[in-house]
Amino acid sequence: MDVFIEPIGRLINQFSKLPGVGKKTAQRYAYKIIGMSEAEARQFAESILYCKQKVRYCKVCGNFTENEVCDICARRDGSVICVVKEPKDVIAMEKLHEFKGVYHVLHGVISPMDGVGPNDIRIKELLARIDGGVKEVIMATNPDVEGEATAMYIARLIKPLGVNVTRLAHGLPVGGELEYADEVTLSRALSERKSI
Ligand SMILES: [Zn+2]
Repeated sequence: MDVFIEPIGRLINQFSKLPGVGKKTAQRYAYKIIGMSEAEARQFAESILYCKQKVRYCKVCGNFTENEVCDICARRDGSVICVVKEPKDVIAMEKLHEFKGVYHVLHGVISPMDGVGPNDIRIKELLARIDGGVKEVIMATNPDVEGEATAMYIARLIKPLGVNVTRLAHGLPVGGELEYADEVTLSRALSERKSI
């Protein structure tokens, strides 16, 4: 990194921390910033801090929100809960404009290889939401090994509570992520979901 003068090297280092950004891309981003007007650069920098200050987790579902409780939890039918791994999966589902229920974001999946156990993700919080009003829990974790194992683990805990637990139908690419599934495939996986 020492071929760059210090301020540029520092900026490249910051961009390199982003997912999917290698050194070359980080360098392009840094040069782009240098080419901006001071006002543009300030707006860019302030947007980062603004996000950090404003965005928090919904105390019900764990999705991103500006308020204590997100709009989806506040307004929608709470009798169907769709369980996903990450906030970006909520976006993937919402793009379908089909699901009218609420979400529960686990913030991870059970993965013994990575040292992630059931207590490290938001399973307790999900169980606490299961009351007489919940009719169905849709397990929409990714169709990979950890996602399947997590869906099964949670299903075993919830089914005895008298709630129908369903899993997105197959057709999603195995080992893939919800985020990258095309909308037709994801939409079919949702409408053809099966009890587990
Ligand atoms: Zn919420």
